[in-house]
Amino acid sequence: MTSNQEASFMEYGFFNGEFITLDTAKVQLEDRGYQFGDGIYEATRVYNGKCFALERHLARCRRSLRELRIPITYMDEELTAIHYDLIQKSGIQNGVIYFQITRATAPRTHYFPDQVIPNLSMTIRESEPNRKWQEDGIACMLAEDIRWLRCDIKSLNLLGNVLAKQAAHEKGLQGAIQFRKDTDLITEGSSSNFFIVKDGLIWTHPTDNLILKGVTRSILLEEVIPQLGYTVVEKAFTPEFALSAAEAFVTSTSLEVTPVVNIDGHTIGNGTPGKITQSLLQGYRELVQKECYNA
Ligand code: PMP
Repeated sequence: MTSNQEASFMEYGFFNGEFITLDTAKVQLEDRGYQFGDGIYEATRVYNGKCFALERHLARCRRSLRELRIPITYMDEELTAIHYDLIQKSGIQNGVIYFQITRATAPRTHYFPDQVIPNLSMTIRESEPNRKWQEDGIACMLAEDIRWLRCDIKSLNLLGNVLAKQAAHEKGLQGAIQFRKDTDLITEGSSSNFFIVKDGLIWTHPTDNLILKGVTRSILLEEVIPQLGYTVVEKAFTPEFALSAAEAFVTSTSLEVTPVVNIDGHTIGNGTPGKITQSLLQGYRELVQKECYNA
């Protein structure tokens, strides 16, 4: 098999009821996702051929659709079955399944079209969490949060996140921590939730309209942290407060729990991943192990 054939085999997708290879996939020109960013998405990790925390992702997907008044035409059971069909057809054991649901394909006008069926597209790609980043920690920059005021919806509108991440990338950094200029308060990472540890307490932004309620964040708060006996303060804090933290870390489906050891050139703690951060990563991995390897 040539590397090209291998790539198309791995890059498997699904569009409106059909399984496809990405080289044959076509975008509909008047898909509202394409023209307005009028849709939502989810990304779920696959470990050992099993989806981790899929129910939480599907629940958030339903909420995002409700908030945008996009009709719910795919049931959780159906979406789950497509996830597993993609795993099986692609042969991928460790990767990420991405899906997006857009409002419709319809002649371009801003208001909602009548009686249209949303479009579902999905892809699966092989990938592993970046273990080196988890072991060494990453360096981030501070970036002004220029996003809209409904960051709680996992919508396709990601330009603010894209620009923040690109700015970090151009500085040779691994991520951006966003703060709102009007309040001087940190919100979240460019594609992750942000936490600090200070005086033994774990701080993170509350779940309001300014951040995405991350599945990884919820798992830490509801399942890992109570078990380890730590206390969380869900309260926004300033960049200055964060720079004097003992530890900092980001969470997401793809990063899991990744330590942040430098922000804007300032060393966090002693510049190595902190003990509490490491124990949270360990606790998270144990849950993955239980759900995807031992079940
Ligand atoms: N915030 C933003 C802006 C994100 O894009 C993501 C990742 N999709 C997260 C937080 C983390 O969410 P999750 O843990 O569900 O991946």
